[in-house]
Amino acid sequence: MIDTHAHLDFDQFDKDRESVISQATVAGVELIVNIGTDFRSSAISLALAEAYANIYAVVGLHPHDSKVWDSKTDPARLEKLADHPKVVAIGECGLDYYRNYSPHPDQKRAFADQIAVARNMKLPLVIHNRDAFPDTFDILLKNSAHKVGGVMHCFAGDVEQARQIVDYGFYISVGGRLTYKNSADPANAAAVPLEKILLETDCPFLTPAPLRGKRNHPALVALVRAKLAEIKQLDEDEVDDVTTAAAKKLFGLPR
Ligand SMILES: [Zn+2]
Ligand SMILES: [Zn+2]
Repeated sequence: MIDTHAHLDFDQFDKDRESVISQATVAGVELIVNIGTDFRSSAISLALAEAYANIYAVVGLHPHDSKVWDSKTDPARLEKLADHPKVVAIGECGLDYYRNYSPHPDQKRAFADQIAVARNMKLPLVIHNRDAFPDTFDILLKNSAHKVGGVMHCFAGDVEQARQIVDYGFYISVGGRLTYKNSADPANAAAVPLEKILLETDCPFLTPAPLRGKRNHPALVALVRAKLAEIKQLDEDEVDDVTTAAAKKLFGLPR
């Protein structure tokens, strides 16, 4: 298994980061992709990737913080950070019209700029989209994001949108929400070929059932795998093989 979306740099892991990482290995998590949310978190992600052979980093700015993105200086700053063998993608970037922590024009600008960085660096994109699919997809199209590809993490759209993004050449990833009652995620996962689905935790958030309410961590990606196997009516080993191969293909792993 690969946990393709973890936030181990967050302070929720300050007390036991080392043991959380070894628990993941024991649970069969071969690699962890740690995702930056701003320049500071991206630098810490990269430091983790340098410290642990089984961790890779993604660097970028979350849509929540788009209002601080400086289009004059930040693209070059991000390219410099991304120019490292353990950086496997740009993100998480995208649009979040649910929380609206940054004005939409700022979100769109920071997102388009980061797609340009990804194209310059020939790295795929890790995309965060919440309640903003039409604008997200429009910006991907206008900026030729298909040239680098990417994943819409913790995909939260409908079946039509899931098919649209996969037809565009992108992956979707599924996390703890796949295990929740009344979630739309199982229908999306059922509608998309397994070869286009990645596993993630988005830890420390979105803890899978039956552990909801507790802190999430990479070892729990096994619960997501189990649910996906049930949805696809395959055994867990097969889901493991196919989703691991998909993640390695997207991120160009191992390096
Ligand atoms: Zn996200
Ligand atoms: Zn995230």
